Amino acid sequence: MNLILLGPPGAGKGTQAERLQQDFTLAHISTGEMLRQAKADGTEMGLKAQEFMDAGQLVPDEVVIGIALERISKDDARDGFLLDGFPRTVPQAEALDAEMAGLERRITAAILIEAPDEDIVRRISGRRVSKSGRVYHVEFDPPKHEGRCDVDGSVLIQRDDDKPETVRERLAVYHRQTAPLIEYYDAQGLLRRFDGTRSPTEVHDHIRATIATLRLEDEL
Ligand code: ADP
Ligand code: ADP
Repeated sequence: MNLILLGPPGAGKGTQAERLQQDFTLAHISTGEMLRQAKADGTEMGLKAQEFMDAGQLVPDEVVIGIALERISKDDARDGFLLDGFPRTVPQAEALDAEMAGLERRITAAILIEAPDEDIVRRISGRRVSKSGRVYHVEFDPPKHEGRCDVDGSVLIQRDDDKPETVRERLAVYHRQTAPLIEYYDAQGLLRRFDGTRSPTEVHDHIRATIATLRLEDEL
Protein backbone atom coordinates (compact mmCIF):
# COMPACT_ATOMS: atom_id res chain seq x y z
CA MET A 1 0.00 0.00 0.00
CA ASN A 2 1.52 3.22 -1.20
CA LEU A 3 -0.69 6.11 -0.19
CA ILE A 4 -0.61 9.85 -0.77
CA LEU A 5 -2.30 12.35 1.54
CA LEU A 6 -3.49 15.42 -0.33
CA GLY A 7 -5.19 18.55 0.93
CA PRO A 8 -4.65 22.16 1.93
CA PRO A 9 -2.28 23.08 4.77
CA GLY A 10 -4.09 22.45 8.04
CA ALA A 11 -6.64 20.00 6.57
CA GLY A 12 -5.47 17.33 9.02
CA LYS A 13 -2.97 15.32 6.96
CA GLY A 14 -0.42 15.01 9.76
CA THR A 15 -3.10 14.23 12.35
CA GLN A 16 -4.52 11.44 10.20
CA ALA A 17 -1.09 10.14 9.17
CA GLU A 18 -0.17 9.65 12.82
CA ARG A 19 -3.30 7.55 13.38
CA LEU A 20 -3.20 5.57 10.13
CA GLN A 21 0.42 4.68 10.62
CA GLN A 22 -0.67 2.80 13.75
CA ASP A 23 -3.49 0.94 11.94
CA PHE A 24 -1.46 -0.20 8.97
CA THR A 25 2.25 -0.82 8.72
CA LEU A 26 3.21 2.19 6.69
CA ALA A 27 6.22 4.49 6.78
CA HIS A 28 4.97 8.04 7.44
CA ILE A 29 6.93 10.35 5.17
CA SER A 30 6.40 14.07 5.69
CA THR A 31 8.53 16.32 3.49
CA GLY A 32 7.59 19.28 5.73
CA GLU A 33 9.04 17.43 8.75
CA MET A 34 12.16 16.44 6.81
CA LEU A 35 12.71 20.04 5.72
CA ARG A 36 12.15 21.37 9.26
CA GLN A 37 14.67 18.82 10.54
CA ALA A 38 17.21 19.88 7.91
CA LYS A 39 16.62 23.48 8.96
CA ALA A 40 17.11 22.62 12.65
CA ASP A 41 20.30 20.69 11.81
CA GLY A 42 21.53 23.74 9.92
CA THR A 43 22.39 21.75 6.77
CA GLU A 44 22.97 23.62 3.53
CA MET A 45 19.69 22.28 2.13
CA GLY A 46 17.85 23.28 5.31
CA LEU A 47 19.14 26.82 5.11
CA LYS A 48 18.19 27.05 1.45
CA ALA A 49 14.69 25.71 2.19
CA GLN A 50 14.14 28.04 5.13
CA GLU A 51 13.62 31.23 3.12
CA PHE A 52 10.90 29.57 1.04
CA MET A 53 9.18 27.99 4.03
CA ASP A 54 9.20 31.19 6.09
CA ALA A 55 7.64 33.06 3.14
CA GLY A 56 4.91 30.42 2.76
CA GLN A 57 6.27 29.41 -0.65
CA LEU A 58 7.04 25.92 -1.88
CA VAL A 59 10.64 24.76 -1.70
CA PRO A 60 11.90 24.26 -5.30
CA ASP A 61 10.95 20.96 -6.94
CA GLU A 62 14.52 19.77 -7.52
CA VAL A 63 15.29 19.96 -3.78
CA VAL A 64 12.09 18.29 -2.56
CA ILE A 65 11.98 15.60 -5.25
CA GLY A 66 15.52 14.53 -4.32
CA ILE A 67 14.79 14.07 -0.61
CA ALA A 68 11.36 12.47 -1.12
CA LEU A 69 12.46 9.87 -3.67
CA GLU A 70 15.53 8.95 -1.65
CA ARG A 71 13.32 8.41 1.40
CA ILE A 72 10.86 6.17 -0.48
CA SER A 73 13.63 3.73 -1.41
CA LYS A 74 14.67 3.22 2.24
CA ASP A 75 14.03 -0.20 3.80
CA ASP A 76 11.18 0.80 6.12
CA ALA A 77 9.18 2.17 3.18
CA ARG A 78 9.58 -0.96 1.05
CA ASP A 79 6.34 -2.53 2.25
CA GLY A 80 4.32 0.65 1.97
CA PHE A 81 4.31 4.35 2.70
CA LEU A 82 2.03 7.20 3.58
CA LEU A 83 3.24 10.35 1.87
CA ASP A 84 2.20 13.49 3.74
CA GLY A 85 2.78 16.78 1.92
CA PHE A 86 4.39 15.27 -1.18
CA PRO A 87 3.76 15.61 -4.10
CA ARG A 88 2.65 19.24 -4.05
CA THR A 89 3.16 20.13 -7.72
CA VAL A 90 2.54 18.33 -11.02
CA PRO A 91 6.30 17.93 -11.72
CA GLN A 92 6.68 16.31 -8.27
CA ALA A 93 3.82 13.90 -9.05
CA GLU A 94 5.38 13.03 -12.40
CA ALA A 95 8.76 12.40 -10.77
CA LEU A 96 7.09 10.14 -8.21
CA ASP A 97 5.29 8.17 -10.95
CA ALA A 98 8.56 7.68 -12.83
CA GLU A 99 10.36 6.52 -9.66
CA MET A 100 7.55 4.11 -8.78
CA ALA A 101 7.55 2.64 -12.28
CA GLY A 102 11.31 2.09 -11.96
CA LEU A 103 10.79 0.27 -8.65
CA GLU A 104 7.93 -1.74 -10.19
CA ARG A 105 5.56 -0.35 -7.61
CA ARG A 106 2.45 1.73 -7.95
CA ILE A 107 0.43 4.30 -6.00
CA THR A 108 -2.57 2.63 -4.33
CA ALA A 109 -4.64 5.78 -3.73
CA ALA A 110 -4.50 9.54 -3.25
CA ILE A 111 -6.49 10.46 -0.16
CA LEU A 112 -7.84 14.00 -0.40
CA ILE A 113 -8.83 15.68 2.88
CA GLU A 114 -10.96 18.71 2.05
CA ALA A 115 -11.68 21.74 4.25
CA PRO A 116 -12.75 25.30 3.37
CA ASP A 117 -10.29 28.20 3.72
CA GLU A 118 -12.04 29.69 6.83
CA ASP A 119 -11.57 26.42 8.75
CA ILE A 120 -7.97 26.21 7.61
CA VAL A 121 -7.08 29.62 8.99
CA ARG A 122 -8.57 28.75 12.41
CA ARG A 123 -6.85 25.40 12.49
CA ILE A 124 -3.43 26.66 11.53
CA SER A 125 -3.51 29.64 13.86
CA GLY A 126 -4.31 27.32 16.78
CA ARG A 127 -1.84 24.60 15.84
CA ARG A 128 0.93 23.87 18.32
CA VAL A 129 3.67 21.28 17.92
CA SER A 130 5.98 19.42 20.28
CA LYS A 131 9.71 18.87 19.87
CA SER A 132 9.07 15.46 18.33
CA GLY A 133 6.54 16.88 15.85
CA ARG A 134 3.35 15.76 17.59
CA VAL A 135 0.49 18.07 16.63
CA TYR A 136 -2.09 19.73 18.94
CA HIS A 137 -4.69 22.45 18.64
CA VAL A 138 -5.33 24.97 21.44
CA GLU A 139 -9.09 24.57 21.02
CA PHE A 140 -9.81 21.40 19.00
CA ASP A 141 -7.17 19.04 20.37
CA PRO A 142 -5.57 20.52 23.49
CA PRO A 143 -2.86 18.70 25.45
CA LYS A 144 -3.68 17.40 28.96
CA HIS A 145 -1.43 20.05 30.54
CA GLU A 146 -1.56 23.44 28.84
CA GLY A 147 1.42 24.15 26.63
CA ARG A 148 3.11 20.76 27.24
CA CYS A 149 3.27 17.65 25.03
CA ASP A 150 1.41 14.64 26.48
CA VAL A 151 4.07 12.27 25.17
CA ASP A 152 7.46 13.90 25.70
CA GLY A 153 6.56 16.79 28.06
CA SER A 154 8.31 19.34 25.83
CA VAL A 155 7.04 22.92 25.60
CA LEU A 156 4.62 23.27 22.68
CA ILE A 157 5.52 25.90 20.11
CA GLN A 158 3.90 27.59 17.13
CA ARG A 159 5.63 26.96 13.80
CA ASP A 160 7.20 30.08 12.25
CA ASP A 161 5.12 29.61 9.11
CA ASP A 162 1.85 29.23 11.07
CA LYS A 163 1.58 32.98 11.70
CA PRO A 164 -1.60 34.46 10.11
CA GLU A 165 0.24 36.53 7.48
CA THR A 166 1.97 33.43 6.09
CA VAL A 167 -1.12 31.22 6.20
CA ARG A 168 -2.94 33.26 3.52
CA GLU A 169 0.04 32.93 1.22
CA ARG A 170 0.26 29.17 1.80
CA LEU A 171 -3.42 28.80 0.95
CA ALA A 172 -2.97 30.78 -2.27
CA VAL A 173 0.03 28.58 -3.12
CA TYR A 174 -2.07 25.47 -2.44
CA HIS A 175 -4.87 26.56 -4.77
CA ARG A 176 -2.43 27.59 -7.50
CA GLN A 177 0.20 24.84 -7.41
CA THR A 178 -1.17 21.82 -5.52
CA ALA A 179 -4.90 21.72 -6.28
CA PRO A 180 -4.18 20.63 -9.91
CA LEU A 181 -3.07 17.29 -8.43
CA ILE A 182 -6.70 16.54 -7.57
CA GLU A 183 -7.46 16.28 -11.28
CA TYR A 184 -4.13 14.51 -11.90
CA TYR A 185 -5.00 11.63 -9.55
CA ASP A 186 -8.70 11.62 -10.40
CA ALA A 187 -7.80 11.05 -14.06
CA GLN A 188 -5.81 7.97 -12.97
CA GLY A 189 -8.78 6.68 -10.96
CA LEU A 190 -6.79 6.96 -7.72
CA LEU A 191 -8.56 9.83 -5.95
CA ARG A 192 -10.58 9.25 -2.76
CA ARG A 193 -12.27 12.29 -1.17
CA PHE A 194 -12.87 12.85 2.57
CA ASP A 195 -14.71 15.58 4.42
CA GLY A 196 -12.03 17.15 6.61
CA THR A 197 -14.53 19.31 8.52
CA ARG A 198 -15.66 16.28 10.56
CA SER A 199 -13.96 15.46 13.86
CA PRO A 200 -10.50 13.87 13.69
CA THR A 201 -12.02 10.56 14.84
CA GLU A 202 -14.72 10.58 12.16
CA VAL A 203 -12.24 11.48 9.43
CA HIS A 204 -9.99 8.71 10.67
CA ASP A 205 -12.81 6.13 10.69
CA HIS A 206 -13.75 6.99 7.11
CA ILE A 207 -10.22 6.86 5.77
CA ARG A 208 -9.40 3.66 7.66
CA ALA A 209 -12.47 1.92 6.23
CA THR A 210 -11.52 2.96 2.70
CA ILE A 211 -7.93 1.78 3.11
CA ALA A 212 -9.11 -1.55 4.54
CA THR A 213 -11.28 -2.03 1.43
CA LEU A 214 -8.41 -1.07 -0.88
CA ARG A 215 -6.19 -3.58 0.87
CA LEU A 216 -8.74 -6.35 0.44
CA GLU A 217 -9.08 -5.53 -3.26
CA ASP A 218 -5.31 -5.57 -3.54
CA GLU A 219 -5.10 -9.06 -2.04
CA LEU A 220 -7.73 -10.53 -4.38
P1 ADP B 1 1.35 21.76 6.30
O1 ADP B 1 1.35 20.68 7.36
O2 ADP B 1 0.88 23.05 6.84
O3 ADP B 1 0.63 21.34 5.06
P2 ADP B 1 4.07 21.00 5.73
O4 ADP B 1 4.67 20.68 7.04
O5 ADP B 1 3.66 19.87 4.87
O6 ADP B 1 2.88 22.01 5.94
O7 ADP B 1 5.06 21.92 4.90
C1 ADP B 1 5.63 23.09 5.44
C2 ADP B 1 6.41 23.84 4.36
O8 ADP B 1 7.46 23.00 3.86
C3 ADP B 1 5.59 24.20 3.12
O9 ADP B 1 4.89 25.41 3.26
C4 ADP B 1 6.71 24.29 2.06
O10 ADP B 1 7.43 25.49 2.17
C5 ADP B 1 7.64 23.15 2.46
N1 ADP B 1 7.28 21.89 1.79
C6 ADP B 1 6.85 20.74 2.37
N2 ADP B 1 6.61 19.78 1.45
C7 ADP B 1 6.88 20.35 0.24
C8 ADP B 1 6.81 19.90 -1.10
N3 ADP B 1 6.39 18.66 -1.42
N4 ADP B 1 7.16 20.76 -2.09
C9 ADP B 1 7.59 22.01 -1.81
N5 ADP B 1 7.68 22.50 -0.56
C10 ADP B 1 7.32 21.69 0.46
P1 ADP C 1 -1.84 19.31 7.98
O1 ADP C 1 -0.83 18.23 8.25
O2 ADP C 1 -2.78 18.97 6.87
O3 ADP C 1 -1.20 20.64 7.81
P2 ADP C 1 -2.56 19.02 10.82
O4 ADP C 1 -2.84 17.57 10.98
O5 ADP C 1 -1.28 19.54 11.34
O6 ADP C 1 -2.78 19.43 9.27
O7 ADP C 1 -3.79 19.82 11.48
C1 ADP C 1 -3.81 21.26 11.53
C2 ADP C 1 -4.38 21.70 12.88
O8 ADP C 1 -5.79 21.39 12.94
C3 ADP C 1 -3.76 21.02 14.09
O9 ADP C 1 -3.69 21.95 15.14
C4 ADP C 1 -4.72 19.87 14.42
O10 ADP C 1 -4.71 19.58 15.81
C5 ADP C 1 -6.08 20.44 13.99
N1 ADP C 1 -6.96 19.44 13.40
C6 ADP C 1 -6.63 18.36 12.63
N2 ADP C 1 -7.72 17.68 12.23
C7 ADP C 1 -8.79 18.35 12.74
C8 ADP C 1 -10.22 18.15 12.67
N3 ADP C 1 -10.75 17.13 11.97
N4 ADP C 1 -11.00 19.04 13.31
C9 ADP C 1 -10.46 20.08 14.00
N5 ADP C 1 -9.15 20.32 14.10
C10 ADP C 1 -8.30 19.47 13.48
